[in-house]
Amino acid sequence: MSVQPSSDPAAGAAVKAADRAHVFHSWSAQGLIDPLAIAGAEGSYFWDYDGKRYLDFSCQLVNTNIGHQHPKVVAAIQEQAAKLCTIAPGFAVDVRSEAARLVAERTPGDLDKIFFTNGGAEAVENAVRMARLHTGRSKVLSAYRSYHGATAAAINLTGDPRRWPSDTASAGVVHFWAPFLYRSPFHADSEAQECERALRHLEDTIAFEGPQTIAAIILETIPGTAGIMVPPPGYLAGVREICDRYGIVFILDEVMAGFGRTGHWFAADHFGVTPDLLTFAKGVNSGYVPLGGVAISAEIAATFDQRPYPGGLTYSGHPLACASAIATINAMAEEGIVENAAAIGENVIGPGLREIAERHPSVGEVRGLGVFWALDLVRDEETREPLVPYNASGADNQPMADFAAACKRGGLWPFVNMNRTHVVPPCTVTEAEAKEGLAILDEALGAADAHTV
Ligand code: PLP
Repeated sequence: MSVQPSSDPAAGAAVKAADRAHVFHSWSAQGLIDPLAIAGAEGSYFWDYDGKRYLDFSCQLVNTNIGHQHPKVVAAIQEQAAKLCTIAPGFAVDVRSEAARLVAERTPGDLDKIFFTNGGAEAVENAVRMARLHTGRSKVLSAYRSYHGATAAAINLTGDPRRWPSDTASAGVVHFWAPFLYRSPFHADSEAQECERALRHLEDTIAFEGPQTIAAIILETIPGTAGIMVPPPGYLAGVREICDRYGIVFILDEVMAGFGRTGHWFAADHFGVTPDLLTFAKGVNSGYVPLGGVAISAEIAATFDQRPYPGGLTYSGHPLACASAIATINAMAEEGIVENAAAIGENVIGPGLREIAERHPSVGEVRGLGVFWALDLVRDEETREPLVPYNASGADNQPMADFAAACKRGGLWPFVNMNRTHVVPPCTVTEAEAKEGLAILDEALGAADAHTV
């Protein structure tokens, strides 16, 4: 580590005081939060103003796939800032063209046109709009246990309880169940049965809604925020076949799973499936500058050859963001970062988590691949009752709060959601760092075990 954390508690207190005075935080009750003041970050770590370092097993919001402050990406942003900070989306500019080429080269199949956005939700909004205009149909099918973003259409597509309080305008959105054997909506007892029943349920939903009314089916290739559920073999290929049969646009949301996280450039590569539209953000440039986008098939792109596409924002394809994407993608390729994510997942994190699970009654299931893992924590291994109820808050959430506090005391920053902790370090994580994180997690799970029956 080249930058060493130093201690300056007074500076930290000033940052915190200004934050509490003026910053309105997302997804939070403003009076109940106590955000940690951050002094710096590098690689797999960040640190506070007391000089305490945290191993970042959250990748912030699962976006710093290349780690913090990668020197090549920082330099690319600095160089671009000196050359051309901003230019409207309507111009052709070298960094935007090159970023689009690099993304298109890596996306599966014929997804060769790239529409840039400022993040994931905006990518989802535009993918849905493209599908509706392309088909002339209005309904969109989306899965329960999914997250697609917090803007208008994206939050309505989202299938998790955070949507319910704000769900006032779900026009045209229909939710269905996707496969998840551990908590099977279909009461299946094998992956094959879960897959078959999930596909039949989707067919039934389509038949009931009317195939001629459905513009798109959107799925996270591997749902992330909702619990990292790797779909059973054959499921995504089955959805592809159903979409083809009914002329429905297949959208895969790879905002979280894309760009190396699963040990391939895209999670779709694990399943040999090509969607019609693929949304991305986060890992495309590790979030150093806001960027997302939609990769578009030749057929859908052609819809807008002679007819304008009605969408785009002032900063779409921002030069600083595009320069950082080029540097990120090139560094990932040059430094074997995607391969590293695959190897660490297979050889260190996967086996390590399974071994940890054997020692802890609170771990119900371990699932994932690459650097994309979840521990499903339970109160009772037999009944699989979650360690905390969905949407738990206050006293109900104490078990997860105790667990997260134990991780932080040990120097690990976890990604905790509902009754799960996700293990999502950077794709650059070393074997030693992964083992350090697993050891802290192992100890912290004692705090969760204390709440089991
Ligand atoms: N889609 C998926 C699969 C996501 O995981 C997220 C964010 O976590 C989004 C969309 C929304 O992305 P953003 O927060 O950049 O708008």
